[in-house]
Amino acid sequence: MDFDLGQDAAALRVRLRRLIDQELPDGFLGAFTDDPADLAVTQAFCRLLAEQGLLTVAWPSEFGGGGGSLWDQTVVREEMWAHHEPRGAQYMGLNWVGPAIMAHGTPEQQARHLPPIAAGEVIWCQGFSEPEAGSDLASLRTRAVPVGDTSGADGWRITGQKIWTSYAGMAQWCIIAARVGPGERHEGITMFLVPADAPGIEVRPIRSMLGPHHLNEVFLDDVFAGPEAVLGELGGGWAVIRTALAHERVGIARYARCERLLSELGRELEPHWGDLPASLHAAWVRALVQVRVARLLAYRTVRAQESGGVPDVAASAARIAVTQCDQSVAEVLCSALEERCLDAGSTAPVHGAVEDHWRYAQASTVSSGTIEIQRSIVAKALLRGERL
Ligand SMILES: Cc1cc2nc3c(=O)[nH]c(=O)nc-3n(C[C@H](O)[C@H](O)[C@H](O)COP(=O)(O)OP(=O)(O)OC[C@H]3O[C@@H](n4cnc5c(N)ncnc54)[C@H](O)[C@@H]3O)c2cc1C
Repeated sequence: MDFDLGQDAAALRVRLRRLIDQELPDGFLGAFTDDPADLAVTQAFCRLLAEQGLLTVAWPSEFGGGGGSLWDQTVVREEMWAHHEPRGAQYMGLNWVGPAIMAHGTPEQQARHLPPIAAGEVIWCQGFSEPEAGSDLASLRTRAVPVGDTSGADGWRITGQKIWTSYAGMAQWCIIAARVGPGERHEGITMFLVPADAPGIEVRPIRSMLGPHHLNEVFLDDVFAGPEAVLGELGGGWAVIRTALAHERVGIARYARCERLLSELGRELEPHWGDLPASLHAAWVRALVQVRVARLLAYRTVRAQESGGVPDVAASAARIAVTQCDQSVAEVLCSALEERCLDAGSTAPVHGAVEDHWRYAQASTVSSGTIEIQRSIVAKALLRGERL
């Protein structure tokens, strides 16, 4: 299988790697560490990428983008995830909030929200999941009640609770799924674009092994949202969610990080490779095959996006492969390095990234929809006779 994306893509990779080398501190492992300086690094890095036209390389120029191809965007996301996502929490705005606003937003919403995302100035969070609505998102209960008459022309009051909201404590804006009107299940869900500091919003951090700032509960108590906050059709939120999830599921290019970690492990163990058990050699090779399969499925989704579709089934297939390779690579790294897998710092094996990778890999089959749900989506499509 030839994964070569051509000379321009190769040049873009070189440029990105040079920037990463110059701008990120040694041993950088992402924004969600105990060191608050890491968040600041990601904020500065986003602004730098934006100044150089690399943050939204594939967005149309009228929205502050570089007008490049989805393949350019793929290269950017691979290099970012391979190097511990130095765009930090902003990747969510870049990866799918922006594209969802392009697809479903009014011209006013596009003018209001897209330039700050493209300039690397704003963090968004995603308020979908609720305590009783995770996999079964369509059962969400957060409610938006119209102010004045039933049209919503005077705005809405939103009340409910969200959970597992990544980055809510650091976000300036939140995209909230709420139920309007009498519709049940998928009908009646509407998306709202709400400032994260709107009166009535309370964010409570959830301590987790993913590190500080990551997961949160968000309580919404009579939060006002003007009519201009509605993204897409009233009651048409499910279409926005589908767009969002298709972008989200293919946008997390952790297969690129997996390949980098496996390669580094191979290089570091090379002098003693022959002394390692054959079972470890086999596990390393199997993990590499999984990584390449994940890349292939991700590229298949990008190709479908290129022809204008919302390839949510293909994105689910890619997501299954990515989360599985995440976990396989984590196990290979830990088995090969034994107790040294806990070593931290840039001089530790595999630049000290193993413990961090292992922790996040455990959650990867849950975030963005669990692996069981992705499998159901793919299975139903295949049973309907669809081709991926
Ligand atoms: C790191 C991380 C970040 C996250 N960030 C966000 C975020 O920013 N915004 C947000 O809105 N949400 C976020 N989530 C929440 C995530 O989307 C949900 O955790 C996920 O959708 C599962 O929902 P749940 O936790 O309610 O589990 P449940 O839906 O209760 O599922 C529990 C178990 O039952 C299984 N299950 C449930 N239904 C079925 C079924 N029909 N068939 C087969 N198996 C089933 C599931 O696969 C799972 O194993 C995040 C989660 C994680 C781990």
